[in-house]
Amino acid sequence: MPRTARIALNRPLRRLFDYRIPEDLTLEPGQRVRVPFGHQTLTGLVVDTDTPPPDGIELRSIERALEPWPVLPTETFHLLNWASRYYQHPLGECLFMALPPALRRGQPAKEKHESYWQPAPDGEGQALPANAHRQQALLAWLQEQPAPASTTSIRAAGFTTSQLKSLADKQRIRPAAAPAFAGIADEPELTPTLTPAQSAAAEQLPTPAEGFNTALLYGVTGSGKTELYIHHLKTHLPKDRQALVLVPEINLTPQTVARFRQYFGDRIGVWHSALNDAERLAVWLRVRRGEPLILVGTRSAALLPFTSLATVIVDEEHDGSYKQGDGFRYSGRDLAVYRARLNRCPAILGSATPSLESYHNAKQGRYRLIRLEQRAQNTTPPSLHLLDIRSRPLEGGLSRPAIQAIRRTLENGEQALVFVNRRGYAPVMMCFDCGYVEECPRCDTRLTYHRQDRAMRCHHCNYQAAARDHCPSCQSENFKPVGQGTERAEDTLAETFPDYPVVRVDRDSTQRKGSIQGILQRVNSGHPCILVGTQMLAKGHDFPNVTLVVVINADGGLFSTDFRAPERLMQTLLQVSGRAGRAQKPGRVLIQTCHSDAALLQQLCQHDYLTIADQLLAERQTGGFPPFRHMAILRAEADTMEQSLTLLNTVKADASFPSELTVWGPLPALIARKADRHRAQLVFLSDRRSCLNQALSQLCTMLELRKPSTRLRWSIDVDPIET
Ligand code: ADP
Ligand code: ZN
Ligand code: ZN
Repeated sequence: MPRTARIALNRPLRRLFDYRIPEDLTLEPGQRVRVPFGHQTLTGLVVDTDTPPPDGIELRSIERALEPWPVLPTETFHLLNWASRYYQHPLGECLFMALPPALRRGQPAKEKHESYWQPAPDGEGQALPANAHRQQALLAWLQEQPAPASTTSIRAAGFTTSQLKSLADKQRIRPAAAPAFAGIADEPELTPTLTPAQSAAAEQLPTPAEGFNTALLYGVTGSGKTELYIHHLKTHLPKDRQALVLVPEINLTPQTVARFRQYFGDRIGVWHSALNDAERLAVWLRVRRGEPLILVGTRSAALLPFTSLATVIVDEEHDGSYKQGDGFRYSGRDLAVYRARLNRCPAILGSATPSLESYHNAKQGRYRLIRLEQRAQNTTPPSLHLLDIRSRPLEGGLSRPAIQAIRRTLENGEQALVFVNRRGYAPVMMCFDCGYVEECPRCDTRLTYHRQDRAMRCHHCNYQAAARDHCPSCQSENFKPVGQGTERAEDTLAETFPDYPVVRVDRDSTQRKGSIQGILQRVNSGHPCILVGTQMLAKGHDFPNVTLVVVINADGGLFSTDFRAPERLMQTLLQVSGRAGRAQKPGRVLIQTCHSDAALLQQLCQHDYLTIADQLLAERQTGGFPPFRHMAILRAEADTMEQSLTLLNTVKADASFPSELTVWGPLPALIARKADRHRAQLVFLSDRRSCLNQALSQLCTMLELRKPSTRLRWSIDVDPIET
């Protein structure tokens, strides 16, 4: 009897492929194999090995196994199988997502042999030709490196192997030994000393000995959640086990990793999108080998092949970056909790502004709620004040009282932070004669004016055009920027406060590698300055000398049709407010608004987050929204809105949904046209997860059977965070 295996391929296909197993080969699920596919040979992953062979079909044979062990260990394999069903995403793509790019491509699962280079001592070797600018640049770059650099990192820095070879031929550089293998050195004996409030919280955190247990750590901004995590791991994580610490964006908060390193040294592994393929493979292999790492990583670290996971921590668990926005639309936070369950180990979700989902779970008794409501260094929380700007003259978006407050702060030798919701100079260019507003030709959105390079940009599709100095509709020169962006706020502040540095922090100013580090260093030197920036400034930074936060305009999220908008607004405002008064001096927050009577904003100033969250939850319950019902969206996009709507209408009519399933739509998406694609959606809500899941898999089957058209695309988003 020939043995057969079922193989997953890295293809967007909701099916697996049967192959015959050669006689001399033993295989187990999670192993990589090479299989013939059409005229190609592809890398596949074994899903199971005891499939009965299909009748009457001559199967092709697996060529070989790429290694004799499963690249996906049992628990990771189970996790991805579950996720594929839960998120209705093809299993092949889910499994391959969990491999580093090199392994997806079929490369060997071992570190590449690297050569390392260092500059030769001064005076050695031949002179470089005057026109060999790149060779000179490479030499200078190598001289700046603290340790010998690998060929991979030299190429990542933009140099070529032929430039490297020229320098080597002229003996200006020489090969070097690889820097010592970063094994698990002895951990420093340090453990943070906790404040009494932190100690009380630490007592309640679930330990690996307790098995699976999820805790929601509600720790106000500045309460020292990082210290608590470190203390917990130091005290309870066995020396031979692994831990996963998810963080929203490592590049933005290098301090967090630095603090973990201080206490755990080389036991810290780091995983994020800025790693190159070789670095990814190296970290992935360390995790797979079972090294007792504490892996600090972003979303996709939840998919790493841990073999002895004993603690899961998700910092800033409310953060939207945990949800993957396209393809396999998983939530890193939710997968991390599911992993903890599979591994029977604790999961700790921390936030000063917990998501309503997690808070609801805590209220239902599914999560243990732990409160840490005191700041570590300065026990008074920042005070929040609304500044109604309806009848006040504004200078570059800033009211007189806000400017005065900034002045006093700087004169006291302290720092001020100004929060603007939009990068660029101004969110709109408008003609003051005919009312023309410049829109993106490819989306239903307006173009943002960026003054730095005099460009108009679409923040949704990256369309870009040169800025105009007159109205394209009536030729009037009265064509001007309207509203506030970070560049404009930076200008106004620099003019108003010429004696103080203004530091802008947004995606444009931090694009270059390492630039955020420079900015943070400047701010942390403590000299009086003004920080101006977007959401980026709200993300977990610890700026000890910031005592004043000014929010230029809080009104964006007040009247949105998105049911999540109030939650997001509260989270952003509280997070950005939380940057004020973190060290000894008290913090003050001024929130400019045209709606100082709005109930939500008033509550923000009077209550703690959980009181507001209770109210927001009550509204969600009344409206029948998540977390009280489970939600999924079927999205369609096509060249015309009619095609998108027709597809959704047809499947809705053809499907037989149970009566307990609520179906809304089809309706055009909030931004109906994006990058010239017309988008529509069907929304599903159900009390029962299983009901929702069944309906979705029925839909998938129906949609798969339709003749696929590359111009008409559909996708399913389970637990969507954007509607
Ligand atoms: P959170 O992430 O909860 O907002 P952080 O972890 O950034 O707070 O901590 C806020 C500040 O308090 C940091 O400067 C941190 O070093 C300091 N801090 C935290 N815990 C302690 C402690 N036990 N003793 C002294 N300083 C602490
Ligand atoms: Zn005009
Ligand atoms: Zn656009």
